[in-house]
Amino acid sequence: MKFRKKPVVIEAVQIKEKWFNCPDEEYPLAEIPLNVLIDPIQKHCEVKTLEGVMIGNIDDWVITGIKGEKYFCKPDIFQSTYEPVSKDVLLECPDCGKREVNNSLICDNCKSELLLL
Ligand SMILES: [Zn+2]
Repeated sequence: MKFRKKPVVIEAVQIKEKWFNCPDEEYPLAEIPLNVLIDPIQKHCEVKTLEGVMIGNIDDWVITGIKGEKYFCKPDIFQSTYEPVSKDVLLECPDCGKREVNNSLICDNCKSELLLL
């Protein structure tokens, strides 16, 4: 059998140099996702995963999964795996069929991840 990966929508932001250059009182920058730790000395980010601490460097992407979990992705992999979707894209729940505009990424009814139509 052949399979195709489901078109799941994720939130992502690219790690920027300025994340490490801000004076202490400006932390955390609003664009830095929750639970991403900044190491201004080594200029890298850290997230805790089930497999241990993962390191993200400048230009890597921070991806927020459907359960709020964070992980990093190298820019070349990110570019070949993801493409931007517009803010008002229509998403559909694979379980109840409910369709909604891309405000949330999970179905209010069944907590399933919504898929791109
Ligand atoms: Zn649903």
